[in-house]
Amino acid sequence: MREEVKSGCGGSDSRTALGEVMERYPCRLNPYLASLMESESCPMARQFMPGVEELDESSGWIDPLAEEALSPVSGLVHRYPNRALWLVSHECAAHCRFCTRKRRWKGARELSEEELGEGLAYLRKNPKIVDVLLSGGDPLLLPAERLDRILHSLRSIPHIQVIRIGTRLPGVLPEAVTPELAAMIRKYHPLFMNLHFNHPREITAESRRSCATLADAGIPLGSQTVLLRGVNDDAAVLGELFHGLLSMRVRPYYLMQMDLTAGTGHFRTPIAAGLKILLALRNRISGIAVPQFVIDLPGGHGKVPLVPNSIQAIHEDRVELTTYTGKRCTYPLLQGEHEDLRRLQFS
Ligand SMILES: *Cc1c(COP(=O)(O)O)cnc(C)c1O
Ligand code: SF4
Repeated sequence: MREEVKSGCGGSDSRTALGEVMERYPCRLNPYLASLMESESCPMARQFMPGVEELDESSGWIDPLAEEALSPVSGLVHRYPNRALWLVSHECAAHCRFCTRKRRWKGARELSEEELGEGLAYLRKNPKIVDVLLSGGDPLLLPAERLDRILHSLRSIPHIQVIRIGTRLPGVLPEAVTPELAAMIRKYHPLFMNLHFNHPREITAESRRSCATLADAGIPLGSQTVLLRGVNDDAAVLGELFHGLLSMRVRPYYLMQMDLTAGTGHFRTPIAAGLKILLALRNRISGIAVPQFVIDLPGGHGKVPLVPNSIQAIHEDRVELTTYTGKRCTYPLLQGEHEDLRRLQFS
């Protein structure tokens, strides 16, 4: 598998600019993903093929979400009081060129047994943490026995109600999602999975089967999509993706504004682009197919949802709203409600 997952990247020659990119941020690809590419500039190639633009580090940060600073023990990011993000894996099936954690690709190293123990100890002594999100890297690439042990240890902590696993495997290496893996994971319900799909091309017979394997194991499936310039910054493309996800029993969860990661500026879209897409999809595709649009703020301040404004004016007795077709309508207000509403809307 080691050779197989690395195939398709071409040779790395450190004397060229592209070689320098691959030296700094190694390329990782597999035959399945390569088969989804149509040209050098298609949305799939843009996501996974190294580009010289990655050398432009004039803006952004190596660790834009301040994950290292927010880690009380190695690999465990504790940003919100009641939940924790645990980076239990250092490996991904493919390297997404826009990745926020591309700083970790080179010299990737699994957490040691000692570090795993420290993470567990931290979670055990923090009863406020009720939700643990496993990520990485891709937790589903861990040896099944190790993942089983981690999940088992988490389940033995009474205050942890919900376990989540973030993975891109169903869309980028679907064959690795086996019924045996799903059968192991289902022992640890309530367990949610958050997948990662960026383009309708990723919806194939293979990814469909892989999501079915997980959904049939009773795992509620969500998905996050990164809004990427030249890949999916288009309402029709995202509408097709989100409905395609629903058809695989995957509920779109987050549409994410690009993080300000050094060397990924060429993927960044204006904030208005995301809002326009949400507006174009509103009421036009199924409500459950529309994710929340969020900015994960630089510095680790958390995710902020952005919603296109529908309130045009607040009067004492009524509010003026714009519908999805652009029609202006009014809705009556209760006595005295307008001040509160103004504060909520404009503060
Ligand atoms: C995104 C994230 C979570 C989970 O956030 P939700 O909005 O509950 O999905 C938790 N911790 C960190 C550090 C995160 O980045
Ligand atoms: S799957 Fe996620 S963590 Fe892995 S390279 Fe892609 S964006 Fe980064």
